[in-house]
Amino acid sequence: MSDQNPQKHSFQAEVAQLLHLVTHSLYSNPEIFLRELISNASDACDKLRFEGINHPEYYENDPELHVRIHFDKEQKTLTISDNGIGLTEQEAIDNLGTIAKSGTKDFMSKLSGDQKADAQLIGQFGVGFYSGFIVAEKITVESRHAGTAASDGVRWISTGTGEFEVEQVTKESRGTDIILHLRDDALEYLEAHKVKQIVNKYSDHISLPIEMQKEVWQQDEVAEGEEAQENAGSMVKTDDWEAINSASALWTRNKNEITEEQYIEFYKNLSHDFEAPLAWAHNRVEGSTEYTQLLYIPSKAAHNIFTREAKAGIKLYVKRVFIMDEADNLIPNYLRFVQGVVDSADLPLNVSRELLQESRDVKTIREGNTRRILTMLDGLAKSEDEKDQENFKQFYAEFGSVIKEGLGEDFGNRERILKLLRFSTSNNDEVSTSLADYKARMKEGQKAIYYVTADSLNAAKNSPQLELFKKKDIEVLLMADRVDEWSMEFVNEFDGTPMQNVSKGAVDLGDLQDAEEKKALDVAAEQFKPVVDKMTDSLKAKTKQVRVTTRLVDSPACLVTGEGELSPQLIRMLKQAGQAIPESKPILEINPEHPLVKKLESSNQFDDLAHVIFDQAVIAEGGLPENPAEYVKRINSLLLK
Ligand code: ADP
Repeated sequence: MSDQNPQKHSFQAEVAQLLHLVTHSLYSNPEIFLRELISNASDACDKLRFEGINHPEYYENDPELHVRIHFDKEQKTLTISDNGIGLTEQEAIDNLGTIAKSGTKDFMSKLSGDQKADAQLIGQFGVGFYSGFIVAEKITVESRHAGTAASDGVRWISTGTGEFEVEQVTKESRGTDIILHLRDDALEYLEAHKVKQIVNKYSDHISLPIEMQKEVWQQDEVAEGEEAQENAGSMVKTDDWEAINSASALWTRNKNEITEEQYIEFYKNLSHDFEAPLAWAHNRVEGSTEYTQLLYIPSKAAHNIFTREAKAGIKLYVKRVFIMDEADNLIPNYLRFVQGVVDSADLPLNVSRELLQESRDVKTIREGNTRRILTMLDGLAKSEDEKDQENFKQFYAEFGSVIKEGLGEDFGNRERILKLLRFSTSNNDEVSTSLADYKARMKEGQKAIYYVTADSLNAAKNSPQLELFKKKDIEVLLMADRVDEWSMEFVNEFDGTPMQNVSKGAVDLGDLQDAEEKKALDVAAEQFKPVVDKMTDSLKAKTKQVRVTTRLVDSPACLVTGEGELSPQLIRMLKQAGQAIPESKPILEINPEHPLVKKLESSNQFDDLAHVIFDQAVIAEGGLPENPAEYVKRINSLLLK
């Protein structure tokens, strides 16, 4: 019953592109469409339950929430209906015509055209509603938002190619019907047993009843004079609906009644990930605050994990009533990749995000979740089991640089986090050395854990700062994650051993440097004092101090940062992020053994040479001279002499 002519709308460009991909990349696993649509229906019921707390009229005297699957063999349609919150006309246009998720463009640009790889990526992204087009040549959505008049229903129709139509219709019952007009190669989804099998596999744990019409066997009528033939008849649908799933929220069940398969399927539903998780923990926590936690570690990082849009993956329930998605108060930011469910027995149903922030119970739950995840990771790291070790490696490759943020965010767990970190070192390219491994390999007399930070692993490995360490065969940890510079600011020691950034402050190798070397430095410092003074004067705009060092072997000079000051890399990072930073100049250390430095003593182009040595030190640690043109000019002038 149309009150107006259908209005045509175009899909957002990304949706059109996604639709194309969905139909072309996902056919290898078409049945997931049912999981996605049931999951949406279940979300819609969750939303009604939540909004119904303050708007009981939304229930419209129909309080039993359910999802119903209906098929019509003649029309070749499969319909998934829910009596959840429903959509208004505007919501249908907005939600079924655009992709609200941020980072969509970025995601699209990652697609390679290789169908298998893309299918996995899409899985991570979550295609949701649009997956219906894997099996349907046309989708009709009929919906009405809870609490609105019957005449305020909406019908949305699309064939999944560029456009959709929307019109106002009358719909008696609230909620949403998704009517799939199946393609001829997808008619198997009209078979009750097939649908049951899929629901069983993917959606058994959904906490609502998923219902189908009960079928009964009807014997064919026998005409007079004929003999009744055995087995001549067919299944016919009745008006009775029966649940085909167990309809108890998975996390409320007993651990030993849940199979590994079920845990994995639940995860896939929850996260829209196609791949199985690396690990999970399921516990009922008792004590001053009672709650159930079911937490998963995905096997792949979401494409937007490092953007501001990355959201916490925890759903909050209170006594099985869904309260909110992305409950970022329940997990620290550095564990934002964790997916799962927390069901609290103590929080009020009408809890808001603001309230969550202040709640003591929430704080306890967050601490509990954090501890559980860190313990689980520690278990994987320590496990002798090959599969666990593989999983830990994969975890670290995906999320290592995310958990490092915890060093600055979660002081209480810093030591636990440090234990999980793995590094490549000056002796070993593989990212496999733990701080404990490093300590075990320290040289006699070595009093600190040495590390160097740089913009890339290559730059770290070839940093001039390492020359002396290489000469003395002292292992140095290489750190090249963007976050390292920042996070290591918060770390002074590990397990009682100081951690020393080799580009910060003066090198003090303690007992690893013999008296003779120390004396040689004093002599050189004395001899080079006039050069150092003259250089300090010449470079005073660029550096706060020039000094002689023994840390260099092959390079003429390097930049170091004063104790407690920001390093050049960190300054670059902060500047790129648009932050105002206090003026701070690096220290220039020169190598008295280097011919270029020696040349300074007698050069009649002192100024050019001093500036070139400084700028080269900037380049060596991955920066650019402040004035590249001037640098080139000075170099050329020196070359020509
Ligand atoms: P997602 O569920 O990941 O947000 P979808 O593409 O599956 O993405 O759905 C887009 C939006 O359409 C949902 O966020 C929801 O607002 C709306 N929607 C989809 N299915 C239903 C439904 N059965 N009832 C109400 N709203 C729905």
